[in-house]
Amino acid sequence: MQFKNTKAFAQQLDSEDALRSYRESFVFPKVNGKDVIYFTGNSLGLQPKSAQTYVDDVMKDWRELAVEGHFYAQKPWWDYHERLAKPLAKIVGAKPEEVTVMNTLTVNLHLLMVSFYRPKGNRYKIICEEKAFPSDQYMLQSQVRFHGYDPKEAIVEIKKREGEHNFRQEDVLNVIKEVGDACALVLLGGVNYYTGQVFDMKTITKVGHEVGAFVGWDLAHAAGNISLELHDWDVDFAAWCSYKYMNSGPGNASGCFIHERFHGKKDIPRFEGWWGTEKETRFMMNPEFVPMPNADAWQLSNAPILAMAPYLASLEMFEEVGMEALIQKRNKIVAYLEFVLKDIDTQVSSEFEIITPVSQEERGTQISVFLHGEGRKLFEYLMKNGVITDWREPNVIRLAPAPFYSSYEDMYEFGQILKKGILEKKK
Ligand SMILES: *Cc1c(COP(=O)(O)O)cnc(C)c1O
Repeated sequence: MQFKNTKAFAQQLDSEDALRSYRESFVFPKVNGKDVIYFTGNSLGLQPKSAQTYVDDVMKDWRELAVEGHFYAQKPWWDYHERLAKPLAKIVGAKPEEVTVMNTLTVNLHLLMVSFYRPKGNRYKIICEEKAFPSDQYMLQSQVRFHGYDPKEAIVEIKKREGEHNFRQEDVLNVIKEVGDACALVLLGGVNYYTGQVFDMKTITKVGHEVGAFVGWDLAHAAGNISLELHDWDVDFAAWCSYKYMNSGPGNASGCFIHERFHGKKDIPRFEGWWGTEKETRFMMNPEFVPMPNADAWQLSNAPILAMAPYLASLEMFEEVGMEALIQKRNKIVAYLEFVLKDIDTQVSSEFEIITPVSQEERGTQISVFLHGEGRKLFEYLMKNGVITDWREPNVIRLAPAPFYSSYEDMYEFGQILKKGILEKKK
């Protein structure tokens, strides 16, 4: 399709957009009395209007039923978390039994390390990508120290090549092969948070298994953004947060995937709690732990229902629309954003550089732009004028249109504001 950087063309694309009505299902903050142009759904997704109702329902049940709500609420609390597994399983390409929702992302990665980082003899190294999200780095460093190793020795980082913005698949595979039987675990971000690069999870998982390592994925920037087939890719485990692309609300619960081949085992190391024990006998308060026959065996505590309510509200929208339709819109709106950026770049003879891979297979909805010569001032201009994006040192803004609620007109308007900001600065 031949794009045009005009308002009429953007409006035409909106009128043809099968998901356009979903914009009305979200609440937009306002700047200068106008809805913002929101590009930070990769950091905190907007609030679905239905989230309020779901939370109100729980408040009402708590008010009217108190402890009885565990069993007699409209959506009983004792198995409330199970309602999230089915829609989530579709989003991440898993069987519902392989998915559970609990805690928060970094907590879950630590808990999963109990099962999947089991250094022994020569096999103790962890492979990750360089400049991984800081929380993941701290998690890995503290885990290897906990096991008595020096992070410098035990953590092997995959590097980018000099002058390049993205990792090369061959380099990832070569590092895994080189570390070979010293590799206990490969743990990467499925989508890089800084550049938006998507890793070939299927191949990397296969090669990790070939050297005898466990392979896990941090899907914070992948879940709800790209197509995932965790079960078929034979991934051992994965975890993600829900407040980015899944619009569940600040700091909300994380999801975990644990492949079914690890279910129902009593000999797998795992930290355990009463919500992981078999449902039938849970309230008999027996001293013996009988694991749930699915990923729920990793559950510890009774679920934070007030947090799960908005997550469930959001997941029901995903269930209704499906990842396929979201990805279709994503591809088109990201292509349009890229077109607008390049067009504005020519008009103002500036020098943006898009550091996100150009191919659709290697990116999701995020475009990271390196603003050569521009900087924080331009970012602040955008924010003041109702474009919510984020700034990453040294000189990068990340733009992530959300297929659920971003419009093509947003992309056009953003281009106009960007152009004005650059020209004003040049005066
Ligand atoms: C957002 C993000 C996190 C956040 O972790 P929390 O425990 O939810 O605060 C962790 N890792 C990655 C890769 C992220 O993108």
